[in-house]
Amino acid sequence: MGLRHFQVAKPLFIALETDRIMDHKVKIRCPACKQVFRERANKVRDGVQLNCPNCCKLLTLHRDTDDPYLRRALKLAKEIRKAAQEQIVEKLYGPIR
Ligand SMILES: [Zn+2]
Repeated sequence: MGLRHFQVAKPLFIALETDRIMDHKVKIRCPACKQVFRERANKVRDGVQLNCPNCCKLLTLHRDTDDPYLRRALKLAKEIRKAAQEQIVEKLYGPIR
């Protein structure tokens, strides 16, 4: 694969790679039914609403929630997204040192 080909393919590569890494899931504990389910890190963000697959309750994810399980899920998802971005940059431009 020549350099020119790589240049053209780069946006697609980034999209695929982001999708692959973002496929990591974080555990979320529903505050209503206490059941744990898994959601893609890409979806677990501050202010996002999700339906619990067990009891169908609409959950709103807030960074400043009183629920330590939701706070932990948001923090973990953020770390996964950050790690994903670093991995992509490293793949494209080599190790950052
Ligand atoms: Zn539930």
